[in-house]
Amino acid sequence: MAADLEAASPFDMRVDLGKDVPETDVRTALANGDMGFLHSFTTGSAVDGPGVRVVAWTTGCMWRCLYCHNPDTWTLRNGIPVSVGQATGQLRKYAHGLKVMKGGVTFSGGEPLMQDRFIVKMLVAAKQMGIHTCVETNGYLGDRLSDEELATIDSVLLGIKAWGNEKHKKLTGRELDPTLMFADRLARAKKPVWIRFVLVPGLTDDAADIASIARFTAGLGNVERVDVLPFHQMGRYKWEKLGMRYALNDTKEPDIEATEKAVEIFRSAGLNAY
Ligand code: SF4
Repeated sequence: MAADLEAASPFDMRVDLGKDVPETDVRTALANGDMGFLHSFTTGSAVDGPGVRVVAWTTGCMWRCLYCHNPDTWTLRNGIPVSVGQATGQLRKYAHGLKVMKGGVTFSGGEPLMQDRFIVKMLVAAKQMGIHTCVETNGYLGDRLSDEELATIDSVLLGIKAWGNEKHKKLTGRELDPTLMFADRLARAKKPVWIRFVLVPGLTDDAADIASIARFTAGLGNVERVDVLPFHQMGRYKWEKLGMRYALNDTKEPDIEATEKAVEIFRSAGLNAY
């Protein structure tokens, strides 16, 4: 199990690894969090939170972003079923190194809060090991966490994907407001946040929209940095292998100038943007 849990990269395609888990067990797991579904752990990330990170990639997502580079993580049962004990044991292997390197664990996905009970148990376990915790989320299910549970997260990587409910729904399948409400809640809790914004030519590169995201983000007061992530095609092969229609076959990666322009809009609003 441990060898399977570690992957070289989240771009490894993983499907059906939990397909034999009965539906009733899935429902029980979601309710009590004793079992979770993970695509993998990857190590040595320098971009998924402060310091060097181990990333636990969860499966399950309720959004359908047109540019998603890990659509194999949409389905819960594509992930490996693991008990909290197994996942915690894996994390324990990295604990010492993470503390030495001033890093931590980041729960990403998929959408980690699809498995909120499991994630809370993992967060508590990580804190007990003295590991810094981060959750990368689209924020849509943020209200599943109590204030006490939110306190087990040291920082949040929040994706803001488009501006305005209509455009957001076209891009992700869901409306934007819950994400903004979660962002406001994180601001009230003074939780350190990094914003992640994926720049996609023709989809999310409208300067006025980016300026609106920048204004909202700057007004929160708790955002430490903004990462503008240029769209790429590394996940396209997964859509093809899964037999899913990929709408962005002809979409080019943004050039350096376009990416710099977006970064500059965030900087103009007073944010640390990269
Ligand atoms: S929220 Fe993330 S995992 Fe879910 S569809 Fe969008 S990009 Fe993919």
